[in-house]
Amino acid sequence: MNEATADGDVREHAYEYDVVVVGGGPVGENVAERVRSAGLTAVIVERDLLGGECSYWACEPSKALLRPVLARADALRVPGLRRAAEGPLDVDAVLAHRDAMAFHWKDDAQADWLDSVSVDLVRGHGRLDGPRRVTVTTPEGDTVRLAARHAVVLGTGSVPSLPPVPGLDRVRPWTSREATGARRVPGSLAVVGGGVVAVEMATAWQALGSKVTLLVIEDHLLGRMEPFVGEMAEDGLREAGVDIRYGTAVESLRRHDAAGGRAPLRITLSTGEELTADEILFATGRTPRTRDVGLDTVGLAPGDRLAVDDTYRVTAVPDGWLYAVGDVNGRALLTHQGKYQARIAGAVIAARAAGRPVDDAPWGAHAGTADTAAVPQVVFGVPEVAAVGLTTVEADRTGRRVDVVDHDMTGIAGAHQYGEGYRGRARMLVDPERGTVVGVTFAGPGVAELVHSATFAVAAEIPLERLWHAVPAFPTIGEVWLRLLEAYRDGTPAAHGQDTADTRPTPRFSQLPERIRLEDTVAERPASPPASADAAVTPDWWLIRMGGI
Ligand SMILES: Cc1cc2nc3c(=O)[nH]c(=O)nc-3n(C[C@H](O)[C@H](O)[C@H](O)COP(=O)(O)OP(=O)(O)OC[C@H]3O[C@@H](n4cnc5c(N)ncnc54)[C@H](O)[C@@H]3O)c2cc1C
Repeated sequence: MNEATADGDVREHAYEYDVVVVGGGPVGENVAERVRSAGLTAVIVERDLLGGECSYWACEPSKALLRPVLARADALRVPGLRRAAEGPLDVDAVLAHRDAMAFHWKDDAQADWLDSVSVDLVRGHGRLDGPRRVTVTTPEGDTVRLAARHAVVLGTGSVPSLPPVPGLDRVRPWTSREATGARRVPGSLAVVGGGVVAVEMATAWQALGSKVTLLVIEDHLLGRMEPFVGEMAEDGLREAGVDIRYGTAVESLRRHDAAGGRAPLRITLSTGEELTADEILFATGRTPRTRDVGLDTVGLAPGDRLAVDDTYRVTAVPDGWLYAVGDVNGRALLTHQGKYQARIAGAVIAARAAGRPVDDAPWGAHAGTADTAAVPQVVFGVPEVAAVGLTTVEADRTGRRVDVVDHDMTGIAGAHQYGEGYRGRARMLVDPERGTVVGVTFAGPGVAELVHSATFAVAAEIPLERLWHAVPAFPTIGEVWLRLLEAYRDGTPAAHGQDTADTRPTPRFSQLPERIRLEDTVAERPASPPASADAAVTPDWWLIRMGGI
């Protein structure tokens, strides 16, 4: 490490590290910690708060706003709790909880953690300055020049994409930052978009007391997920009182600020109608943050998408010293997936630095694979949605052939225990040749915590025959797994994709271990099931008997 002399009022410093990480979001922090734990020196450059978008303006505050909403929706279905759960949310308490979950927008704890793992921090805006070099402009106006012996890692995240709507720049619209950080509940809120952020924020602010209108340019919600998910999300939002308008874009915006306050917005819609709202949230996607990071100094255009290989090296830059992880590479815009990339990138940078072999075959220690093949995602709405891997939407797009099994979760005993009038649905996609699960989607109350079981199945490529031995506990919603396997075994799953003439060998039933074939167990059924208040639970009772409980 060396330090240059001061030059007039503006001081300049120069340091050298093994690895320089630009961006101290969850992903940048993780890659720095990983290379440090492998014995390399590392520094993070952060222009704002350590912890990034996720900690202060995305995952944490949004889920803090939603948790009371989901808990109340669940409680309203539990006998004995309904009366206690009725009535409005305590808005002040919810916002105070949100503030606490966002660490009151202070990053002292994260800075302490960074210190504890011996990663240095330079506060300021970092830009590439030619190969293996980064120049930082600090808040004080100083310049810090950083040189990397082995790698520079860009983890600069993403920014909201805003559509080119006339008047937008003058009305100070909400983006995800205001939607997760607002300190006041607007009387009315227009939400533009039909994706996860739009659905989650419409759910939260409607429950907190806003009159929410959802403006969706498509004719459905959550279009990247299974179609039934969008339908169930729509039902949930409408039941909560959200006004959903499909096929509707924003044409223009006006706001004439009243003295000392924000006058209502006038929103002209593509349908010709005019809508008035106190605030408007644009939840219309994200753009990787590459505009002001010095890409031009390494032969790339500012704002370019950073294509990476599976070890997260930027492919357009020679010599393999530049890596990009997290939102900025656009592979999977989720914290957990970015942190996975960080673990892989950290390991491969350390391996290359030490001259060790690199295992970059799919699913190898140094190859990002799950961030394309097995991406889990939860939508914290009413109902919850949990999905991983392939969907029929994606199978259609890519022409991949899969078997599709659906199950109505209404009849599962654990679902009845969870709440009265439970409505839920599950879909499993199976690779017919390999007999493995390649995608799962659940929608219904309480399904968020099921997502990791599905992620195991998809990422580990567990054969269906073996999944039969993963016995779900009774009475949990997880018994949906058994129902899906049974439906696949007994039913005729829809073959999805090309070649519907279907020349496949008959799979499933013939592949099942003898002892769990249906005909072997039917004989054990009682002559008549016990009387039950709800006929839908009887199949589960049979299964308990068969299990010998
Ligand atoms: C409303 C909302 C809710 C979300 N909820 C979830 C959720 O529940 N679960 C989930 O997994 N994901 C969620 N996400 C996505 C998640 O927030 C992102 O995937 C995650 O934050 C990406 O992490 P990152 O480190 O790549 O980028 P970021 O978190 O954006 O961090 C990038 C960091 O780099 C810094 N930076 C940028 N440029 C420079 C520069 N030139 N110099 C120095 N520093 C720089 C920034 O200040 C920032 O701190 C949500 C997103 C939104 C918008």
